[in-house]
Amino acid sequence: MTAPARLLIVGPQGSGKGTQGARIAETLGIPVVSTGDIFRANIKQGTDLGQQVTAILDAGDLVPDELTSEIVRDRLSQEDAAGGFLLDGYPRNTTQVGHLDAFLAEGGAALDAVILLEVPREESIARLRLRAVEQGRSDDTDEAIAHRLDIYENETAPIISLYEPRGIVDRIDGVGSLDEITARIMSALGARNLGQLV
Ligand code: ADP
Repeated sequence: MTAPARLLIVGPQGSGKGTQGARIAETLGIPVVSTGDIFRANIKQGTDLGQQVTAILDAGDLVPDELTSEIVRDRLSQEDAAGGFLLDGYPRNTTQVGHLDAFLAEGGAALDAVILLEVPREESIARLRLRAVEQGRSDDTDEAIAHRLDIYENETAPIISLYEPRGIVDRIDGVGSLDEITARIMSALGARNLGQLV
């Protein structure tokens, strides 16, 4: 058994946070809660939610905060998240930080660590162009990519200054091999006694 770890991974589009998040979550035996994946799955299945958000995702805009927070709240109340979770893509602005704080506090919990993957903008753009060719994601057009990176810089990056005073932010250099980056993250979490056997 490992102690519960409530984690958030943050980084610009193309920082590799999806890949690293999945690796870390698997190692720690906790579920990944990715709002982007939840929205894309709903779009694929043609649910009401999917229909509501298709145009928003294609434009690279943010889904409304209340709707997004409600979805995450539901997901985190499922049993498999009781022993910890890794959030990817949420919270994405300061309003959502407030929502998350409020519903975690209801269960007497709080985030244990925020992994901030740092990658220069040019590197992010290059990686996203490659992903567009490989995966054909409909929001990986040059225009939507630039818009999403702007939203990241203007709305998402500021959430770090809310978490920093809590002493839970680990800044990780996101340039290097996948294994090197995973090792950097695991060592930062280890220093917080997260992911340790209990
Ligand atoms: P990326 O990090 O490459 O933008 P994501 O998979 O995290 O990809 O998100 C894809 C899209 O899903 C976003 O552009 C946005 O439209 C929507 N989305 C994801 N998470 C949120 C969130 N927390 N709040 C609002 N919209 C979100």
